[in-house]
This record gives sequence, C-alpha cells and structure tokens, in this order.
Amino acid sequence: MKKMFWPVPSTKKNVPKSKFKKGFGRNKEGGRFHCGTDILAKYGSNIIAIESGLIKNIFLFTYLELDQFNKYENTYAIAIQHEKGNYALYCELQKPKLKIGQKVKAGQLIGKVGRIFVHKPKHTMLHFEYHSKLPNSTTKWYKGKRPKSLLSSTKYLQCI
Ligand SMILES: [Zn+2]
Repeated sequence: MKKMFWPVPSTKKNVPKSKFKKGFGRNKEGGRFHCGTDILAKYGSNIIAIESGLIKNIFLFTYLELDQFNKYENTYAIAIQHEKGNYALYCELQKPKLKIGQKVKAGQLIGKVGRIFVHKPKHTMLHFEYHSKLPNSTTKWYKGKRPKSLLSSTKYLQCI
C-alpha cells in the first residue's frame, strides 16, 4: 500500500471517533452536524498532503456571514483529488500560496493553519473533510440531510 501522511506533522496521529467532540458527525448547535474531523494545532502549523494528487479547488471556507452563531474570520479550503478519485478537503487554512491545477506530492507542504475566531485565538485546527464529488463551498449538514457526496473523514484518516 502507498504511504500516506498524517496531515499535521506537528501533532500525533489521533482520529477522534464519530460523536466525540472533534469527530465526524457530531451534533452542533442549530441542528447541524460536524462535516469533518478536527485536528487541533497551533496557528501557523504546517499542513501537508496526505496523498499525491491534483489541486482542484481553493475557496473561502469561513467568513463573517457564514452563519448566525459565530463571528468567523476568513479561512480557506483546498480540495485535492487523490489517485482513487475522491477529494480531500483541507479547511480553516491561511490564504494558500498554491494554485488550482497544481500537482502535489504526498507529504508536500500545502498550507498553514489559520484562525477562525479573533476572540478565541488558540482555537485553531485543521478541519478535514472527505468527499466523493468536488466541493465548491463550505459543507453544511443538517439533521437527516447528510450531503450525498460527503464521506466519513474518520474512516479515511484511520487508513493512514
Ligand atoms: Zn471541524
């Protein structure tokens, strides 16, 4: 099997299970569910590509108008299509220096952990999602309406 890299080298591999605080599928306020896995890391921590692939999209992931519950800062998401065809979505990053269409190697630096709240400067992380279709915007998941293309980031990260 090909080598896969844990996306935040400054942290130990630890995949929170679904229903746990940082896990995929946990309940959030307003009938929402958590669309990914949170890997807590300091602001500015390096994020690397888990597998090799192609950058297919980069977009604003959090921003002030995102929802009524939080006052979000701007952070970005990078979607990389890996060889099996699915998309890894690396979220809550500082503005990326890479461009759509660029190839990345497994383990290559792709970005740095950003900050989603000014009032909680230590609440910083990689929010990681896994999709079967190219994501174009912030994923939202409300009760009983899991987006069809949203796969389990828990299962994927456990393969590393
Ligand atoms: Zn998250």
